[in-house]
Amino acid sequence: MPDPGREEHKSMKKLSALASVAFIIAAPAILAAPAKKKPADLWVCPMQGAVIKSHADAGKGPVVNGRVIHFCCAGCQPEFNKLTAKEKGIKVAAAVKKEASSKKKQ
Ligand SMILES: [Zn+2]
Repeated sequence: MPDPGREEHKSMKKLSALASVAFIIAAPAILAAPAKKKPADLWVCPMQGAVIKSHADAGKGPVVNGRVIHFCCAGCQPEFNKLTAKEKGIKVAAAVKKEASSKKKQ
């Protein structure tokens, strides 16, 4: 008849072995994490306020106010480029606000 206490000890040992394996796997990922935070994508067009559904261009685009800007259509980017830095900031701030409020609704 097996000793139940002994069985428990065995499974505990197995668990801690698993935990250390998980640590070894996770540690390089933690160490490799970049110190500088990447700008977050803004999935609301600053020109038309439309939500961009395709996230294929994640990380690509002009960075304004610390956000990667995306446009709803090919026409919006040249229009955005015509704006002054101040106007761009205002448009992006409005799009950020819109994105935040649309997230709350979900
Ligand atoms: Zn557009």
